[in-house]
Amino acid sequence: MEEQRCSSCGAILFGEGNVVFKCPKCGESKIGRCSNCRDQSVTYVCKACGFEGP
Ligand SMILES: [Zn+2]
Ligand SMILES: [Zn+2]
Repeated sequence: MEEQRCSSCGAILFGEGNVVFKCPKCGESKIGRCSNCRDQSVTYVCKACGFEGP
């Protein structure tokens, strides 16, 4: 199984309050966000296409 990490801070996503979704631009790369980064609206960057989003 693939380890899912927060795309913003690199924390391993485990438990509740974390989200994993596909990049809204390319739909290729999975983007993870931990509850902490969601809280603070930290931006994420898609590894595949470079899309930056809130
Ligand atoms: Zn994070
Ligand atoms: Zn992308």
